[in-house]
This record gives sequence, structure tokens and C-alpha cells, in this order.
Amino acid sequence: MDHPILTIVVPCYNEEDVLEDSILQLDQLLMNLEEEGLISDKSKILFVDDGSKDDTWRMIYKETLKGGRIRGLKLSRNVGHQHALLAGLFSAKTTSDCVISIDADLQDDIHVVRDFLIKFHEGYEIVYGVRSNRDSDTFFKRSTAQSFYKLMNIIGIDLVYNHADFRLMSKRAIDELERFEEVNLFLRGIVPLIGLKSTQVYYVRNKRLAGKTKYPLKKMIAFSFEGITSLSVTPIRLVMVVGFLSFLISLVFGCYFLALKFFGHTTTGWTSLITSIWLIGGLQLMSIGLVGEYIGKIYKETKRRPKFIIEMDTLNLPIPRHLIN
Ligand code: UDP
Ligand code: MG
Repeated sequence: MDHPILTIVVPCYNEEDVLEDSILQLDQLLMNLEEEGLISDKSKILFVDDGSKDDTWRMIYKETLKGGRIRGLKLSRNVGHQHALLAGLFSAKTTSDCVISIDADLQDDIHVVRDFLIKFHEGYEIVYGVRSNRDSDTFFKRSTAQSFYKLMNIIGIDLVYNHADFRLMSKRAIDELERFEEVNLFLRGIVPLIGLKSTQVYYVRNKRLAGKTKYPLKKMIAFSFEGITSLSVTPIRLVMVVGFLSFLISLVFGCYFLALKFFGHTTTGWTSLITSIWLIGGLQLMSIGLVGEYIGKIYKETKRRPKFIIEMDTLNLPIPRHLIN
């Protein structure tokens, strides 16, 4: 493929502060890549508005009307980064040979897009952008992220270390991704399951251009938990193991106390009694909670609700005439 059509997909949620800059920089990037002959002049940038409450959609739409490389996809409400990204990928693949996903704040170095494309030309179907260091993160984010990757590894989930959602996927890879129908979505755990010819490209992650992170601690923890429980049943197995161990321990103690009763003298062990009640009670509650989490996930999956609803798509559908002006 000499000049593949590339679409860059950019999920945006309340990004009015950075949008102008990212539009400018990404547009310039595509122009350079076109001049270099790495991509077709039909290549586009698709901004996905994930139900923003600020001026984001108006800004995207205004750019779209100029008829350049910018296109917009408006979701009917906020569905979260992962689903917004998915909406963008599915819409983009219909008109592209390859798609690159990147965040609106351009924390990921857009200059490695060129390296992504060179790998695509070499025949790779998926190219993962991997951070070579995390200097731009706070110490807290760095260490929690590291523990997260380690934990995922221990419980047997195959993640590309230090890779977020900055990657290139061929149309073929996205077609395969579409067959993973799960509603509980953790893309960076699912994409490696596609297989196909994949490689990694390293880059240095910058600070946010402007605006605030949409992933505060609470959301980050929820997202990690989602990642673990939607990709692995190891935690639930672990609960079983813990349950079994505590059953064994209670057997041993039971025998010991019986032996004391018949052959020694029993002292009323209030402390040990109350401790074990609390311990077992806590374990039981925790286990029920975890089982509930999985049941909740199954419940969500069985409903087969749409993952996103598109309100307007200026990439694949004609722009409604009454909206022009
Ligand atoms: N985002 C989104 N929907 C959301 C939250 C975030 O589309 O509900 C987008 C956001 O606009 C950004 C990307 O997801 O383009 C990553 O968010 P952010 O940069 O805030 O996360 P961080 O880099 O701090 O982890
Ligand atoms: Mg960011």
C-alpha cells in the first residue's frame, strides 16, 4: 500500500482549553506526512465529542465546516474515554486503511506518528506507543501505575507495559476488535488478544498542553478495577483459596481447642474468639462483594445495551444542510 488513508481518532471530553492547539498541531502533522508521501491526501482527523458540557463540540463542528482534514463525531452523552475511542475507531475504519488513537491533550508525542506509519508500511497491523519513562507523571501516579502493571502481570493479564491508548491499528485489526463484543471495556487488555503482527514504538510523554486531567484518583482506581475484573477471574479464584485456607486453619484450631478441653484446662479465650469472628466475617463480606462484582458484570453484558449512541458523524454522513452557517 503506497499511500494508505490514515485517520487519527481523538476522544474529547470538555477539552475546550486544548482543542485549538491540538487541531492546529495534528493538522500540520498530517500535512507534513502527506508531503512526505507516507499517507494519502484523503487522511483525516476525527475528533469524538464524548458528551462534553463546554464548547468542545462547537469548536470541532466549526472546523469540520471548513472542509479540511478535520471531522467530528458527536456522541449523544458522556460514555467515557474507552467507549468514545471505540466509537471513533469503528467510524474511522470504514474510510481508512489504518487508524491512530491519541488523547486530545497531546501528552503523547505526535512526532512518533511517523514511526507508527513506517511500521505500518513494513506490514505491522498493530503498533503500540510505549512511554520510555514517566518523568512527566507525579511520583504517586508513577508508582501506582507501576504496581498496577505488576499486579496485572501476576494475575496473568497480558498488558503492554507503559502503553496507554496511543496506538496504530490497521483496518483489519479493528475489524477483529469489533468481534470482541464485551460491554465492560478495557481496550489495552483486549487489543493484545487480537494477536496479528504487532510491534512497539518508544516515546517520551509530555505534560498536558492545558486543561485538567479527566482521570482523578477515584476514576483511576475504578478504571484499574474494571481492567482487572473484566479480563481475569483470578481474584475470584484467590477468594476461594483464601476461604479454603481459613477453613483449614479453623480445623486445626478446632482440634487444638478440643484437645485442650479434654486433656488440659480451658481458659475462656475471648480475644481469639472475637478476632476470628471479625476475620472470617470480613473475609466473607469481601468475598461476597467480589462475587457480586462479577455477577454485576455478567448482568451488564447480558443486557447487550449499545456501547455508545452517535448523534452526528461528519466523517461518514453528509452534514445536515440546516446546520451549515
Ligand atoms: N476523555 C473522554 N471521556 C471521558 C474522559 C476523558 O473522551 O469521560 C478523553 C479526554 O478528553 C482525553 C483522554 O480521554 O482526550 C484522556 O483523558 P486525560 O488526558 O484527562 O487522562 P490522563 O492523561 O490524565 O490519564
Ligand atoms: Mg492526558
